[in-house]
Amino acid sequence: MERIGIYGGTFNPPHLGHMEAACQAMKVLKLDRLLLIPDRIAPHKKMPADSASGQDRLAMLSLAAAKFPGIEVSDLELRRNGPSYTYETVEQLRTQYPQAELYLLMGTDMFLCFSAWKRWETLLKQTCLGVLYRGDPGEQQAVEQQRVALQKKGARIELVKNQAIPTSSTELRRLLVFRCAGELLSPGVLQYIEAHGLYGTGRDYRKLPMEALEQVVVSLLKESRVAHVLGCRDTAVELAKRWGADVADAARAGLLHDITKALDGPVQLLVCRAYGVELDEFSRENPKTLHALTGSLVAERIFGENPAVVAAIRSHTTGKPAMNPLEKIIYVADYMEPNRDFPGVERLRELAFSDLDGALRLGLEMTLDMLRRQRREISPASQEAVQYLYQQDDKSAACDRKEQELC
Ligand code: FE
Ligand code: FE
Repeated sequence: MERIGIYGGTFNPPHLGHMEAACQAMKVLKLDRLLLIPDRIAPHKKMPADSASGQDRLAMLSLAAAKFPGIEVSDLELRRNGPSYTYETVEQLRTQYPQAELYLLMGTDMFLCFSAWKRWETLLKQTCLGVLYRGDPGEQQAVEQQRVALQKKGARIELVKNQAIPTSSTELRRLLVFRCAGELLSPGVLQYIEAHGLYGTGRDYRKLPMEALEQVVVSLLKESRVAHVLGCRDTAVELAKRWGADVADAARAGLLHDITKALDGPVQLLVCRAYGVELDEFSRENPKTLHALTGSLVAERIFGENPAVVAAIRSHTTGKPAMNPLEKIIYVADYMEPNRDFPGVERLRELAFSDLDGALRLGLEMTLDMLRRQRREISPASQEAVQYLYQQDDKSAACDRKEQELC
């Protein structure tokens, strides 16, 4: 009996993680063929504004699948009207391949909410479920529970362990704007995207006017981070007015300071590789702090920001010795913007408008304190920043003594 895999999704865009999962399913489930089926309208999620059309997604998928024997691309769902319900796709394939055993592939997120799918019980009768899972301790228990629950309903389930490249199409779309998605896409797919200017790749992001910059930044952030970033921008502007720094630079640095924060550790490292940046040991081992570096690179190379803005973004998480006023402002604004809420934030807010150095020092000390309590490593830049401030204090105390002696 022919064994056919069905792998549906938005594929917006298709990336190497999809292809790796498809190959793994071919092997583990011993499939004779695997159909990649881009949906027309996903029933469970809204497509983002900059999405590629169905025809473009189909064309990219064909390019991605070209060199894999047994993997085919189907426009079955694109040819249907309305939301792309899987039960309709399976009905069509049942008619087309009446003798075949159908394997419906899905990731763990879809598997865990399978009972919410339209006509899921019919799907269980007509297909065997192939669950692509990484086997993380976190997901193992939930997957096992769902497996037992669905088996009671007559489900046939095969787990396909898959150490897939940890990425998503959402992340890929960000990386395309940052021009470093090459490692995660088939060369043909990348060429197609660039040739057709998909996902904003055809746009020039340099020196955007403030409103346009805000729009782009918001589209690249996780939704949960937007309020923080806008709060940091507004606070930076207030502080720039108070301390006589360039207000436009403060606004732009505030807007862009967390531009790469949505990327997780391995992807931060990928951005550094793509931009040809050598990392020190601390950064390699603590990729979470890298968003300040990668953010500054993106601000410089993609958004064409000036060196002052780039430098302020660069030092916003760790600080550094001898910071200039704009750098201090972004560091402090990030710490105290209105959405921040932690013991000591009020003191920081007061100091920021009366003694900027004092606020910077308090911020650095609080960070170091927290890292020590959590037994986490402290970055050399933060240590140097604090030492520098203490040395400055010693110097001014010595000057005061000298002045007193002269009097
Ligand atoms: Fe940050
Ligand atoms: Fe931030």
